[in-house]
Amino acid sequence: MTDTVIIAVDGPAGSGKSSVSKQVARDLGYGYLDTGAAYRALAWHVLDRGADTADTDAVRQAAGDFDYAISLDPDDHWVRVGQADVTAAIREPRVAGAVSAVARVPEVRAVLTDLFRALVARADRDGVIVEGRDITTVVAPDAPVRILLTAAPEVRAARRSAEVTTQDAAAVAAALHRRDASDAQVVDFLTAAPGVVVVDSTDLDFTQTVDAVLDVVRTGTGDHHGR
Ligand code: C5P
Repeated sequence: MTDTVIIAVDGPAGSGKSSVSKQVARDLGYGYLDTGAAYRALAWHVLDRGADTADTDAVRQAAGDFDYAISLDPDDHWVRVGQADVTAAIREPRVAGAVSAVARVPEVRAVLTDLFRALVARADRDGVIVEGRDITTVVAPDAPVRILLTAAPEVRAARRSAEVTTQDAAAVAAALHRRDASDAQVVDFLTAAPGVVVVDSTDLDFTQTVDAVLDVVRTGTGDHHGR
């Protein structure tokens, strides 16, 4: 499908963008593409080969041999590399700690950007919510709706530590801030590019954040009907 509507959502870790984007996709009957999953899966692939994600050549080689598949169904989420189902494995702290090194390699970003565009083009839905760090600026700068979802750092850390139960809150917060600092050197996901609407979820609960995003979508797509 060539005329798939893209809703681009960027934001830092712990901003709630994955859970919010997924719910918005459900409400609209759209697909949901988590682009961070591909960077995580590539980091998993590098580690699975026994290579080091700091080794740029090894990362480039892994990207050239990356058999990746992901579900765009917000109610049936899975991620595969070759025959391996890595849906759970890519959420492990060892992968989260390695992913920024993979994401900073320009060739990797180019390969994955092409992959995301192809996945959206093949989607059998009217629209897809594409969520990540550079969707509003690089992957889909022409999307009719572009949103930057933010939240105060302490709120993001608290939300993430509620999700990650295998580490204590201080360790989760430290890992999140380390990853943000590293990612921010590659993509500026804390400042809205021109035309990008900021939704700050610091003082909003989940439902309020979903509603705020839906409001922006309705304005951007000219759909002013109720939910
Ligand atoms: O969104 P999530 O936290 O799963 O993203 C994992 C990592 O993938 C980020 O920390 C970042 O390094 C990378 N990423 C990226 N560009 C995107 C999405 C994710 O660089 N569009």
